[in-house]
Amino acid sequence: MELIFLKPVFKEMIWGGNKLKEFGYDIPGDDTGECWAISAHPNGDCLIKDGEFNGKTLSWLWENHKELFGNSEGDRYPLLIKIIDAKDDLSIQVHPDDNYAKANENGSFGKTECWYILDCEPGTKIVIGHNAKDHAELENMIRNARWSEFIREIPVHKGDFFQIDPGTLHAIKGGTLILETQQNSDVTYRVYDYDRLQNGKPRQLHVQQSIDVIKAPFEENANAKPVVSDLGGCVITRFVKCPYYTVEKIELKDSQISFDMEDPFINMSVVEGNGNINGINIKKGDHFIIPSGYGEYTLDGNMTIIRSFVEN
Ligand code: ZN
Repeated sequence: MELIFLKPVFKEMIWGGNKLKEFGYDIPGDDTGECWAISAHPNGDCLIKDGEFNGKTLSWLWENHKELFGNSEGDRYPLLIKIIDAKDDLSIQVHPDDNYAKANENGSFGKTECWYILDCEPGTKIVIGHNAKDHAELENMIRNARWSEFIREIPVHKGDFFQIDPGTLHAIKGGTLILETQQNSDVTYRVYDYDRLQNGKPRQLHVQQSIDVIKAPFEENANAKPVVSDLGGCVITRFVKCPYYTVEKIELKDSQISFDMEDPFINMSVVEGNGNINGINIKKGDHFIIPSGYGEYTLDGNMTIIRSFVEN
């Protein structure tokens, strides 16, 4: 049985930069904002890099070889893994939940997402939540552009993790490099874009949808508390376990660890260093899926991996 290595899809964005080069990628320009690293979304469907299914898309593999994914239910690969390089601020935005997206966005999934901060410049902040005390004040603050009162900013550091539930106002600010694990959805409602222009025009805003879906007052997610297991030379941090995904960090320091493959499939992203998995070399910037029934897998080397999966 083979690991499924994927070829990332890159997206140029008005807020993007060139830090994705650090991962060894051949990026399209100095405004490359996103690397869709493990994706079967129609807006960026990754190609399989080698092996039996070389050149096929991940969505094709999901449709035609469900056995590789433990015969999981669902008409699409459920997760999407991105690396985001924000040179400038992203728009202030919110995502709907599954029910709202299904009713209003052609049957799309809603979007729960989470961020692992790979790196950031000193003093960088991030937007999570807002300061409106109830929904009426929220609508007033948005309609009257009371942005500085409305938006809640918090400091951010390398290694931080944030769970962003649907209905949570959020924005990545300039100077941040993030690994994002999210539901396979591309539905974003833009509340405020700092009055920026793209090709001479402001980008579309979704004010009414945003007012519909932003929860007020803002409440911090109490479930996203990291659980750290130090296994002697290997540290595993479980950041979150929610109905859509579990996300963990595996840190190896010239050490080795073995796991039994018990999940329908696992996403693996090497975000620092290098090493190998069952003797196959892997390095920073590599992304692959461990298929169902792969059996035991042994990691060794000096590297950090972000691992995500959907629990049975
Ligand atoms: Zn988002």
